[in-house]
Amino acid sequence: MNVDIIGDIHGCLPEFQDLTNKLGYRWENGIPLHPEKRMLGFVGDLTDRGPASLKVAEIVWELVNNYKRAYYTPGNHCNKLYRFFLGNKVQITHGLETTVAEYETLYKKDKQSIRQKFIELYEQAPLYLVLDDQKLVVAHAGIKQEYIGKKHSKVKEFVLYGDITGEKHPDGSPIRRDWALHYHGNACIIYGHTPVNEPRIINNTYNIDTGAVFGGKLTALRYPEMEIVSVPSTMPYIPEKFKHFDLIGSK
Ligand code: MN
Repeated sequence: MNVDIIGDIHGCLPEFQDLTNKLGYRWENGIPLHPEKRMLGFVGDLTDRGPASLKVAEIVWELVNNYKRAYYTPGNHCNKLYRFFLGNKVQITHGLETTVAEYETLYKKDKQSIRQKFIELYEQAPLYLVLDDQKLVVAHAGIKQEYIGKKHSKVKEFVLYGDITGEKHPDGSPIRRDWALHYHGNACIIYGHTPVNEPRIINNTYNIDTGAVFGGKLTALRYPEMEIVSVPSTMPYIPEKFKHFDLIGSK
């Protein structure tokens, strides 16, 4: 199987277009398709903060649902947008406000359309993707070896939010354990969730969230080639949003 897995897009449509073009996809009727029928993969967090969240979500729905040319697993931002679309009470913060603002500008029938599409995309998606005979796992915030194949509530929390301790940093952000440092499984794990300046590759795990929405890069990992392909972001660079792993084992 040949799949190009893309990190957190967060509504960065121009970067998504640039990256897929660089990967050899051709945009037909607003949809990126590869002439050699490579698949696209999405680690989740399609929406929030960037300029075109709903368009990105709609394209991914088309690819997964109509064209069958993509795999998608949700991120924490997808989960929150899903709950918003269900009519649950969610805080319109941490970037959801930009997606909701886009949504509020739409006519009623377009609102219904994107709401239905996103609900369908989310409800059909697995908690994490297990591909290529279990040699490849794609999970938004990563996954522990012993969770692969399981889907109880702790697994759901882990794949959406990471290995959180329940404690918070002084800035209010949750403290996350460095699960990748202790991963020793055979499956290759592709994930996002924690923005890093360069893809972080350790113990057969690949963090490909290079902070496109914070002015970093949008990154893809080509599988099985294991080639990293990135394009620069058009968004302003916000250095404090990027995590550093320079002291291995210290975090
Ligand atoms: Mn994210």
